Amino acid sequence: LRPETLDLRDTLSDLTHLLNRLVGEKVRLNFTYDPVLPEIRADKRQLEQVLMNLVVNARDAMPTGGEIRITTEVLHLAEAMTCDRALVPAGEYVSVNVTDTGVGIPPDKLSKVFEPFFTTKRVGEGTGLGLSTAYGIVKQSGGFIFVDSTPGVGTCFTLLFPALRDIRVALPETQQA
Ligand code: C2E
Repeated sequence: LRPETLDLRDTLSDLTHLLNRLVGEKVRLNFTYDPVLPEIRADKRQLEQVLMNLVVNARDAMPTGGEIRITTEVLHLAEAMTCDRALVPAGEYVSVNVTDTGVGIPPDKLSKVFEPFFTTKRVGEGTGLGLSTAYGIVKQSGGFIFVDSTPGVGTCFTLLFPALRDIRVALPETQQA
């Protein structure tokens, strides 16, 4: 793990060209950046892998085409928040949402998508390691990953990273700069 200080807008704009090629011609890719985005601390290569993974999954959920929206926002949590079973401490976060207009994930499968070897893809198509790897990478950066999905409407993955100025609260001591 090689954490560095990152502006997610730079990370995403460095990836735009590659992501556009990954999604192909049937899928539109839209980016919206919050103009005031605090920096985060993460391993850039690994974060790129997570983003590519989410975008490839989104693309694969839209075989006849659709739209992927990637948005970045700053999120101020005045109080700790429970989401799924995770307790997200109060503080400032940078969120990245990857939203698609694809087939969606059935409710009974939603809680399993971050488990190793879980896949909805056919044998030979997916490795089943993508989202659990993404989960691990996000955890190592002191962050969170959540999923929300409505079958037939689409899926939204949310990444939360502690804003750099709050990081001492959120990161394990061994990972502090
Ligand atoms: P769990 O997955 O059974 O994890 C239990 C505890 O093991 C976690 O407590 C955490 O202390 C540790 N742990 C598990 N996976 C990792 C990891 O990849 N890295 C590190 N450093 N520690 C890990 P915690 O954090 O209080 O989480 C409680 C439960 O909340 C988790 O149970 C999981 O079901 C859920 N959760 C936690 N973080 C997230 C998240 O980012 N996204 C989602 N969807 N669920 C989360």
